[in-house]
Amino acid sequence: MTLTPVAPLPEHEVRVRAPGKVNLSLRVGPREDDGYHAVSTVFQAVSVFEEVVATPSEQRTLTVSGPQAELVPTDGSNLALRAAALLADRAGIDDGVHLHLHKGVPVAGGMAGGSADAAATLVACDALWRTGLSRDDLLELAAELGSDVPFSLAGHTAVGSGRGHLLTPALSRGEFHWAFAVQDRGLSTADVYAAFDDLHGTALVPDQDDDVPLMQALRAGDPRALGAALHNDLQMAALELDPGLAEPLAVAQDAGALGVVVSGSGPTVAALGRSRQHALVLAAAFTASGVADRVLTAAGPVAGARVVSSTD
Ligand code: ATP
Repeated sequence: MTLTPVAPLPEHEVRVRAPGKVNLSLRVGPREDDGYHAVSTVFQAVSVFEEVVATPSEQRTLTVSGPQAELVPTDGSNLALRAAALLADRAGIDDGVHLHLHKGVPVAGGMAGGSADAAATLVACDALWRTGLSRDDLLELAAELGSDVPFSLAGHTAVGSGRGHLLTPALSRGEFHWAFAVQDRGLSTADVYAAFDDLHGTALVPDQDDDVPLMQALRAGDPRALGAALHNDLQMAALELDPGLAEPLAVAQDAGALGVVVSGSGPTVAALGRSRQHALVLAAAFTASGVADRVLTAAGPVAGARVVSSTD
């Protein structure tokens, strides 16, 4: 009798998608003793995605693809590998994993791409290793990894306080349409906060009441009111470090954006359109004027990190 070789079983693979974000409002307080700034922010998750594919492996390794992949570290400093290590430690697991990151979110662009990778990795390894941790456990680990990681896990629309990691879901109706002007040159979040300190010292104190019109605009699903309420305390600091950012801001205004703002610590500039079609017009204006290295369009809000496929 001859034995026919059995086809190898499909490798167990978990694929997770996590969104980038735009800060609809970012209000920053003075530097505190621990070096951090208290913030009051309103996050919206947008349809620009990181994808993380986790497969079993002896060690913990990482590969990266997508635009700007060469800018992303593949050693232990990568937030995704740090997320896998933290989860393994907390769950008492010693397994390896190979992580492949496909980056759709600009690197060092102020849209929390690294945080999205960390959130996606927590979800992917949790499924791969069957850790049995709860969503709240994962949120706690997320907060240890970085201020924006809990929101990448939660998605949709949320108010962030503390360092941005304490989240309260916010009501939002309908869909908002964005065009993003992306730059190849990144801005370091730490540098932008240092420039903020030089500019403002202790002058600004975040106050959630300042965002009442913004929250009303979200509840009403009113893009015009949302555009008027966009706000970023870090914008002046980002412009100080990268004066060229004035150009995409002006181009979006001239093209009739309902509002335009530097995203987080920049240098990505986010322009709000009246409709999906108008967001494409804004994107075309960015491209035609040569003020962006890359242009993206997206809609928000969208869900946080979630499994999109699993072979098991
Ligand atoms: P935020 O909006 O949270 O300030 P960001 O989107 O501006 O973040 P990231 O793309 O998350 O910035 O990364 C900033 C830096 O972190 C990069 O320049 C890189 O050196 C390092 N880094 C670590 N892990 C990652 C990762 N998985 N993806 C991208 N950068 C990473």
